[in-house]
Amino acid sequence: MANIAVLERKCDGCGLCLERCPFGAIELKNGLAQMNSACRNCFSCVKACPKQAIIRLETKTASVDKNAWRGILVFCEVNAGRLHPVSLELIGKALELAKPLDYAVNAVIVGKKLDQHAEELLHFGVTKVYTYDADGLEYFRADAYAACVEDTIRLMKPSVVLVGSTLIGRSLAPRLATRFRTGLTADCTKLELRENSDLVQIRPAFGGNIMAQIVTANTRPQFATVRYRVMDAPERRERASGEIVPCAIPKGVYESRISLISSKPVPPGKSISDAEVLVVGGRGLQKQSDLEMVKELAGLLGGDWAVSRPLVEKGWAGNERQIGLSGRTVRPRLIITCGVSGAIQFASCMNMSGYIVAINTDPHAPIFDVAHTAIVGDLYSILPQLIRSLREDKK
Ligand SMILES: Cc1cc2nc3c(=O)[nH]c(=O)nc-3n(C[C@H](O)[C@H](O)[C@H](O)COP(=O)(O)OP(=O)(O)OC[C@H]3O[C@@H](n4cnc5c(N)ncnc54)[C@H](O)[C@@H]3O)c2cc1C
Repeated sequence: MANIAVLERKCDGCGLCLERCPFGAIELKNGLAQMNSACRNCFSCVKACPKQAIIRLETKTASVDKNAWRGILVFCEVNAGRLHPVSLELIGKALELAKPLDYAVNAVIVGKKLDQHAEELLHFGVTKVYTYDADGLEYFRADAYAACVEDTIRLMKPSVVLVGSTLIGRSLAPRLATRFRTGLTADCTKLELRENSDLVQIRPAFGGNIMAQIVTANTRPQFATVRYRVMDAPERRERASGEIVPCAIPKGVYESRISLISSKPVPPGKSISDAEVLVVGGRGLQKQSDLEMVKELAGLLGGDWAVSRPLVEKGWAGNERQIGLSGRTVRPRLIITCGVSGAIQFASCMNMSGYIVAINTDPHAPIFDVAHTAIVGDLYSILPQLIRSLREDKK
């Protein structure tokens, strides 16, 4: 609906606004201008009206008392007895954001047998670790976990809540944001905190073609999820500091509408996000068997292999090997891309790697904009040479 009103006592039906409206959204009815549903609030008519008969309606949104919400809370994920490393990366970012506003950074963990994890978190600079430790919380159940974290949020009233963009985090964060009727930005790649405590949540949008800056200006807390390997984990401190706060399990947690029938632990597999060395195949590869060269080079370098999305779409590799916006973010010490153009959806998820070598026949390929070493050439001649010389070295 238009945020525009026509003052009947001032409108004389001159029709100038009809001429100026680029959307044909104004009609004259009984000699008075009237907006229809085509109005896009461009306000050209407001400027055009010589009688100031068309006015802009300002809507005031109720804003929260931002000073009542202070500090940063990090949801630290414990799954199958393991603290997910994204939790430490989030703590690192939270500490950096918190400094100028003198905010405390606290952590919350939910699960079973959490003592060791809670103690470990005290080596990373958090002020308090809230724990919800119970047999019934051993496995993730979205409603039960959300109830526990909601409890901490009501207790601590943090301005910002950070959650890892993992399978669990992606299920938990939207539930929490809905409970607090506030905003959530998923998969942020950059976070900044303004003086007024508004969190600027930066992430690729429109297929990665723009970097959107999103602000939750009128509500608190502000929820953001961040993928693994995007932020830096802080150094582990020798001495632990801070306090562990064991919390009572909120009422109703065990009345979950989700019942666990059975569970089968997924064997802890290697993830390309954890690799220190990666060799990546792109659409420059002509057939599936050519991927063997990529795998062999990766093996000789003691690393892992990955692919760009077209290769997953062809069925040559599973999605767990895909780098990119719809795949994984990686940050190895060394990455060698072979026949990858470097589209933004790919490059934005690997451009933080320590050292990037790109092999491509096209000297103008965008991958060379992020590469430290650019090899303009045919992967079918370069890869066999590299493999041969590494094999020689190994002899
Ligand atoms: C919403 C959205 C999400 C997306 N998510 C992802 C994602 O997660 N991951 C992803 O990868 N893509 C993603 N894409 C697709 C992305 O835009 C690109 O289409 C894709 O990354 C291209 O893959 P590529 O570089 O392998 O192929 P191409 O762009 O086709 O590039 C192939 C390159 O190989 C070079 N080449 C050809 N032959 C040789 C040779 N013999 N030797 C050396 N070089 C050679 C060519 O010069 C070319 O630069 C997404 C797109 C959208 C819209």
